[in-house]
Amino acid sequence: RFDENVCPQAAEDPLFGLMAAYKRDSFDKKVDLGIGAYRDNNAKPWVLPVVKKADDLLREDPNLNHEYLPIAGLVDFTNAAQKLILGPESPAIKDGRATSFQTISGTGAVHLGALFLSKFSEQKPTVYLSNPTWANHHQIFSNVGLQIKTYPYFDKKTKGLDFNGMMAAIKEAPSNSVIVLHPCAHNPTGVDPTEDQWKQIAALMKERDLFPFLDCAYQGFATGSLSQDNFAIRHFVEQGFELCTSQSFAKNFGLYGERAGVFHWVVAPAPGAQDAVKRLASQLAILQRSEISNPPAYGARIASKVLNDPKLFAEWEEDLRTMSGRIIEMRKAVKAELEKLNTPGNWDHITSQIGMFSFTGLTEPQVKAMQEKHHVYMTKNGRISMAGLNTGNVQYFAKAVDDVVR
Ligand code: PMP
Repeated sequence: RFDENVCPQAAEDPLFGLMAAYKRDSFDKKVDLGIGAYRDNNAKPWVLPVVKKADDLLREDPNLNHEYLPIAGLVDFTNAAQKLILGPESPAIKDGRATSFQTISGTGAVHLGALFLSKFSEQKPTVYLSNPTWANHHQIFSNVGLQIKTYPYFDKKTKGLDFNGMMAAIKEAPSNSVIVLHPCAHNPTGVDPTEDQWKQIAALMKERDLFPFLDCAYQGFATGSLSQDNFAIRHFVEQGFELCTSQSFAKNFGLYGERAGVFHWVVAPAPGAQDAVKRLASQLAILQRSEISNPPAYGARIASKVLNDPKLFAEWEEDLRTMSGRIIEMRKAVKAELEKLNTPGNWDHITSQIGMFSFTGLTEPQVKAMQEKHHVYMTKNGRISMAGLNTGNVQYFAKAVDDVVR
């Protein structure tokens, strides 16, 4: 019944395929710059010391059990997550205009938002994604039957933001369209708007009556400062938008596989906003119930312990600075090595880009040569996960780049 006409063989997920190819490679100097997961200077996964501490505290608790969480998740966790992403002084929290649902990490949060928008918008909105964006955005929004368009984002020439192109596309978007934005550490380019540009984007979206969907997967991980990294979200809320935001704790807590995330909806300040948020929450609860019943507990418990304890919170901020700091050091090291080698081209973008990724500008054939000749694994679009670099392999990496661009 499900023959190849109705269910053709799908291509392997490119990123997870790349991981498998890396694993198969027996070369001792191979370098994995594919998946966006933090690695320490020995190329090993890093359990944040504060996460280890919270984990130990949880295990000591004799009352810990494996009961179901409520449909909306662990309340202490989602409340703390809300303060973190909207800012503790957020007018949306003070006015009771926000509702939050714990989800299957950031992916689940994007999905819950996409599903809600698809089901409850008067007319199915078009969703505008940055070009390029996290590849999964395309799948998540099209899976729920929403039409997708893209807006220009990356300027190949400057390897920075195509701000004029982005603004021109937003200006043309029909009112009520959904504009998906990465509030910090854009994946895959590592290029973010400046604070002033964010203000201009918000003003234009207000004028055009567009709906912001802020997908936040790297708060605190990008600059090391939690409040710097949520500037865009705070600004949109302060401007009185109705909006939603998806929050992942995969990267900033290193809780990748524990799938800790939250979906937040903020209603615009208007009479009846609190009733509106209640209605919205009641429908989100039904969607959540039918999709996952209730979210997984363990990762949320760990993050909750840290977020709700000022001492642990301060230790977490220190861990965030360790991760973002090491990445920034690696950016500087790559640039210095390439300059030392007199590698053709300008490499300023390596240090001006931010967060987990760098869009190197290497072409597809160059990426292929990086893998086949030098055993360096990176995605076809020339993106590298900066965390895959360390003091032991950065020179090797730079030499490989130098070789393939010549
Ligand atoms: N959005 C973006 C832009 C991302 O880069 C990621 C992580 N790759 C996610 C969402 C969600 O990841 P996760 O489901 O692991 O939290």
